[in-house]
Amino acid sequence: MRKIFFILFLIGCNIIFSQTPDENMLKGLNSINREELMKSVSYLASDELRGRLSGSQQYFNAADYTAKQFLKAGLIPANNGSFFQYFFTEYNEISDAKFGIVKENKIFYYKHGTDFSCRGFSGSGIYTSPVVFCGYGISESCYDDYKDVEVNGKIVLIFKQNADWNTDTKEKYSSLRVKSEIAYNKGALATLFVPRPNDKNPQKPIGSVMDGEGQYISNHPMLQIDIKVADEILENTGYTLSQLQSKIDESRLPNSLNTKANAYLEVNAKYDPARNTMNVAAILEGNDPILKNEYVIIGAHLDHVGSQGNVIYNGANDNASGSAAVLQIARAFSELEIKPKRSILFLLFSNEESGLHGAYHYVNNPLVPLENTIAMLNLDCVSNGDSIMVGNGLSAPELWNIANEMDSLYIKMMVKNTWKGGGADATPFFEKGIQCLYFVTTNGYEHLHLPTDDTETLKPELFEKITLLAYLTAYRIAND
Ligand SMILES: [Zn+2]
Repeated sequence: MRKIFFILFLIGCNIIFSQTPDENMLKGLNSINREELMKSVSYLASDELRGRLSGSQQYFNAADYTAKQFLKAGLIPANNGSFFQYFFTEYNEISDAKFGIVKENKIFYYKHGTDFSCRGFSGSGIYTSPVVFCGYGISESCYDDYKDVEVNGKIVLIFKQNADWNTDTKEKYSSLRVKSEIAYNKGALATLFVPRPNDKNPQKPIGSVMDGEGQYISNHPMLQIDIKVADEILENTGYTLSQLQSKIDESRLPNSLNTKANAYLEVNAKYDPARNTMNVAAILEGNDPILKNEYVIIGAHLDHVGSQGNVIYNGANDNASGSAAVLQIARAFSELEIKPKRSILFLLFSNEESGLHGAYHYVNNPLVPLENTIAMLNLDCVSNGDSIMVGNGLSAPELWNIANEMDSLYIKMMVKNTWKGGGADATPFFEKGIQCLYFVTTNGYEHLHLPTDDTETLKPELFEKITLLAYLTAYRIAND
């Protein structure tokens, strides 16, 4: 019933704005609804899929589910009869992790998932050792956090971010693997990363499989800890973490110290340097004999950051939501009586979370010619927050105007700010000169990369609206 009112409302809008109603386009809206969207998310973000880590059996199951949905919608497999575009990925499975502070021969354990998390490419080990605070973890001739402390056989505690004022080292030290490799080369057993406490909204311990420069070190655990945990480690130094950050930033000099605390940590991880994974790709053929050789890509990343023992990062908003939206938009197009003039390629990426590797793999091995790819719409984190933002509008103003027009006619939830330069999986396409839009909801990152990014926290109505807007925008691009 709600749907019928919505359609009447939309037709009404058309009369008011004296637009030619495109009945065919509007009929597609009937195929998209929040119940179906939430159904897909409930499966993709279920504990059963254990956070869809690229290369895992559970990621394969997720990919298989999406391929079946594409098949059901009557789409064509985009890779020589297969919906899958395979490639190899670095893979690390964390089966268990413990972390605590040792006082009078007793271990006081912290809570995994809230007080601490493992970095995705953490090595394994069981260590009890003193903790040494080493500032930003930089070791260069111009500035050296390690010069006055001994870290051999110790656990190192460093800031996750870099010093804003130390521009020379910023790029090199942006990879946490580089930072921990430096600690490892100085003999440290493990690295604890902590966010800068003086930042506006310091990050909670997140699940992340971002690889970055640097190697996998099999016997060197990498953890991210909460600021309050770091303050407990620093208890006997007379400083808080915030005071230490201020001291370093104000003097621009290292202020490393022995914390006098002992930590216990245990990480069990299984590493595979080359595991098979895949993007999922399906085509809806256009109905214009000439324009069908042109393509609009509608994409989202299917992967998330996996699990760490009992802590599962379900990634409902990031990005089961975008994946479910792509499935629904595919169904909407497939159910149209008159197909769009141009063809549409639906693409679900692997390995966004480790560094956009799936999207980069695609643009370097495109399944349809890049020169005939006229636009790429990316959906990432589309079901939490309060309104709709369409990103990359400054780099693709014509496309953004279409989205804006569709929003003012039919949806009315889009904010006017946008950005340039692509963004996440749109970036590789942007770099190839393809016009992109990035659909995302605003203020929707409350649970980002936390174990609480679950289906229950999503906003079905907003989710439906942004999916409708992406569909309408894609329809116009594929036909105009
Ligand atoms: Zn993410």
